[in-house]
Amino acid sequence: MKKYAYRNIITIDGPAGSGKSTVAKILARDLDMKYLDTGAMYRAITLIALENNIELEDEKSILAAASGVKLEIDQVASSENSYTKVFINDRDVAESIRSPEVGSAVSIVSRLPGIRRYLVSMQRKIAGEGNAILEGRDTGSVVYPDAVLKIFLTASISERVKRRKLQLEEKNQEVKLGHIKEEIKKRDFIDSNRKDSPLVIPGDGIKLDTSDMPIFEVVNKIKQLYYDRTKTKI
Ligand code: C5P
Repeated sequence: MKKYAYRNIITIDGPAGSGKSTVAKILARDLDMKYLDTGAMYRAITLIALENNIELEDEKSILAAASGVKLEIDQVASSENSYTKVFINDRDVAESIRSPEVGSAVSIVSRLPGIRRYLVSMQRKIAGEGNAILEGRDTGSVVYPDAVLKIFLTASISERVKRRKLQLEEKNQEVKLGHIKEEIKKRDFIDSNRKDSPLVIPGDGIKLDTSDMPIFEVVNKIKQLYYDRTKTKI
């Protein structure tokens, strides 16, 4: 058996609004696998920094604050329409990590190599036994480069902005299209150009443009790729 086969890990990376979360949650449920929203972890650390008034570039203080709290993340894919449950010291922060303040600070904190090392090690611990779907920006390129299937989802900027607006409206948050576009473009730029673990298509990753694909089609395509891979590689 090859080393990645028993681990049975699928990674789904891509920029904001590419459909990662929805697709990863449905797949995790259908394939009966763990689900790990790594973006929620970077958001939680960012919330900790903001709440403690720590400078966003102050890696040492952020790490000290983060290691002093109990951070828990739900690994069961609940409804694809609800946010991943995250708790800091038993406090439910699922909504607060999605605030505009965290949204505009998260890419700055995610650039810090020490923060990345800290969270990557936590992610490997959670998904270590395998049977997991990880979604984020570097899950195929850095966290699990030997995953059985590595997907990179993308979509046009206008489609991604439209999706994010719909998602916010479902949560009764009204944000202007122009504002969402600016935020997404800014995050894309920082995430794609940082030195440590930038957003890239992983080596032998498969890129899917979801601009004109309904969700069920994206899910079916990935399932087919997964079955083909496991059939031939296990
Ligand atoms: O996926 P989500 O949009 O919630 O991610 C929020 C931010 O967390 C991203 O814009 C990126 O800065 C950071 N992130 C990261 N690496 C990951 C997942 C998220 O740097 N694996």
